[in-house]
Amino acid sequence: MVDVTKEEVNLIQPETIFWSIFTFMWIVYIWESYLSHRQKETFERTKEVPEPLRDILDQETFEKSRLYQLDKARFGFWHGVFGQTESTLILLYGVIPWLWKFAGDITANFGYGSEYEIVQSLVFILLSSVVSYVIDLPWSIYSTFVVEERHGFNKQTFGFFIKDQIKKQLVLFAILLPIVAVLIYIIQWGGQYFFIYAWVFAFVTSMLLVTIYADYIAPLFDKYTPLPEGELRTSIEGLAASIAFPLYKLYVVEGSKRSSHSNAYFYGFYKNKRIVLFDTLIEDYKPYVDEDKPKDEEDGEEEQQEDQQELLEKKEEKKMGCNNDEILAVLAHELGHWKLGHNLKNIVISQVNLFLCFFLFALLLQQKVLFEAFEFYDSQPTLIALLIIFQFVFSPYNELLSFCMTVLSRRFEFQADAFAKSLQKAEKLRTALIKLHKDNLGFPVADWLYSAWHYSHPPLLERIGALDKTD
Ligand SMILES: [Zn+2]
Repeated sequence: MVDVTKEEVNLIQPETIFWSIFTFMWIVYIWESYLSHRQKETFERTKEVPEPLRDILDQETFEKSRLYQLDKARFGFWHGVFGQTESTLILLYGVIPWLWKFAGDITANFGYGSEYEIVQSLVFILLSSVVSYVIDLPWSIYSTFVVEERHGFNKQTFGFFIKDQIKKQLVLFAILLPIVAVLIYIIQWGGQYFFIYAWVFAFVTSMLLVTIYADYIAPLFDKYTPLPEGELRTSIEGLAASIAFPLYKLYVVEGSKRSSHSNAYFYGFYKNKRIVLFDTLIEDYKPYVDEDKPKDEEDGEEEQQEDQQELLEKKEEKKMGCNNDEILAVLAHELGHWKLGHNLKNIVISQVNLFLCFFLFALLLQQKVLFEAFEFYDSQPTLIALLIIFQFVFSPYNELLSFCMTVLSRRFEFQADAFAKSLQKAEKLRTALIKLHKDNLGFPVADWLYSAWHYSHPPLLERIGALDKTD
């Protein structure tokens, strides 16, 4: 039982906190499962192309996407059951305090006692990430090589997948560990106003990461080739110039090496903006082969050329991707997000939110009862406080915030579509959206409650409806 001393009367018992957190976790899970179940029933029920889509979608593509979505839904259900069981066991069996102690035993063996809290924290992060990663690995293998493969999206070999995953984890640790170390230091030594310094640090770090991502991080994983001179390039540059978009670089990324899902996005600060197109988005993209380049040890030029040949053939037979005018319409939409300041608004919202969270964190940090709820009786490690408060205590708030951001994102999508329309690109955007929808085997019918909660983009029919509206 908890020792309630005279100086420290807790109005709330640790047990109450623990069980509230535990219950809320289950409420979220049941709610999400209910939504997924409604969505799955929609897939099962809707066997015919709905009337307004008859001239856009053929029955065959429709049925294909229906089966793909059903497959993903079944996978999602079992993955969810597994994840929820795992989280439940972690909380019930006190895995967090046990792992913290275990990390402490390891560091003590190397001569770093409990006074080296930052070292112990980093070992804790390493252990917990590696273990949870390994536990989840069979699921991601199954998702890539069974579910995606079955529907023709997977383009990765097993060797590429494993190498890619290891690289991802190493890069993640190289970035995450120093950040956490500095953050803990700031929280411990920052005094009364540490939350301001912590927020400034988080803000500067995130801006720095965004800045170096395109040049130093993304190229570790994918090949970025400048879009070759030609009609497409000229017209994209023309479009950028016409709305004063500071286009700095224009790349094509070999997304086809991973998956045949297609996309486009822009990126960067101030005058340093780049547009990235997936090779799968471009109907007649001829992969660029550098003759002078030494042989790529990783997968061999020959194999690469074979892959590219395969991609061309695949596009040929399925007529995947968009033509130049449609790509321009897609980019007009993307640049609409920039022109309308959507990205800036998102950054402001997330930074204000982060400041608020650090402020509340500072208030809660002194509450020993929070630590006791997670069986930390005689120490209050900062990392554990971050974990408990940010992940568990803030969880209801996080759910609400994420719902609001989804609603906002849908608004932004309509606005970006309207922007493309104002540039006389409505007709091309309409056909591009339909093509991309087909290429990605999107399903045009959704349960209203599921889509209201989860869809960051409005359903296809609503977007087309808004584009078609004459005003
Ligand atoms: Zn958009």
